[in-house]
Amino acid sequence: MLQAELTLPRTFTITDDAPVPIPSHNEVLIKVQQVGICGSDIHAYHGKHPFISCPIVPGHEFVGIVEQAGDGSQELVGQRVTVLPSLTCGHCPQCREGRFNICQTLRVIGCQAPGAFAEYVLAPKNRVFVLPEALDWDLGTLVEPLAVAVHAVRRARRISGANTLVLGCGTIGLMTLYVLKNYGAASITAVDPQTSRLQLAEKLGATKLQGPADAIAGPIHTSFECVGIADTMNQSILATEKGGEIGVLGVFEEDVPVKMGLVQDKELTLLGTLMYTDSDYEEAIRLLSRNPSYLKELITHRYPLPKVDEAFQRLQQAPQDTLKVVLTVE
Ligand SMILES: [Zn+2]
Ligand SMILES: [Zn+2]
Repeated sequence: MLQAELTLPRTFTITDDAPVPIPSHNEVLIKVQQVGICGSDIHAYHGKHPFISCPIVPGHEFVGIVEQAGDGSQELVGQRVTVLPSLTCGHCPQCREGRFNICQTLRVIGCQAPGAFAEYVLAPKNRVFVLPEALDWDLGTLVEPLAVAVHAVRRARRISGANTLVLGCGTIGLMTLYVLKNYGAASITAVDPQTSRLQLAEKLGATKLQGPADAIAGPIHTSFECVGIADTMNQSILATEKGGEIGVLGVFEEDVPVKMGLVQDKELTLLGTLMYTDSDYEEAIRLLSRNPSYLKELITHRYPLPKVDEAFQRLQQAPQDTLKVVLTVE
């Protein structure tokens, strides 16, 4: 089968004779239709993701058709599906609490286990979500990143009626403000250096648009840092009012100096957020089925899988008009 493996940082090895994996008892074999490139894939591509190392076949936001079930059961075969890519142990204290996203031995398809930059991918049967009719392949590809935003917003105490702030309007930031709007935030301030992204932020529900240098008008009750650098982290700490909460979604490539004195003095709560649980996935599918307008505009480019290098170059060279890039597998 066709497969693109990141063998070294910035080096994909493309083969068309990789062996098709064989599903074991609790697994299904999925024929991949398309797969999104995530911010974390870009960190991994540069060899800078703290928890992903080469060699790896990336790809954790994908849709496809179940071709085979390991136990021979037929109910999933032929279904259009997406997959919650977490591989969890099920018995550590976090798993027992239902917080599978922070399993002590968490592995993720496309991060530590082979992913969907390939014609076929394996997934545990119980991680498979059948796509409802209302979700075409593009909306199905957006379930995973939307679930990240759903999880982060649900971690915060105060959303409905609150003044909220989203720093960074890449895919995750835009999805976050879309969830905030759906959950009844009173105001949503979106911050990004790119005007084109702010325009999309407005369509998705932002009520105030600002560049990074503009002063943020308060009071802000709940903030979401969606970049992963010191500047935006400190901006969120400065802007959030006393007693407020900050969701930390950005992936930090390195240790950064953070204004901890203000975190203490303003009694702020930092909410680290990682991935999602089953119910976040169900909620993302529900939100997409109910009101998908504009979200599809997040997909700005598509490339066939063998052109994976071009896709990553595009993400690197023209970030201002590139949001979600999708690889199609045929
Ligand atoms: Zn992702
Ligand atoms: Zn566990």
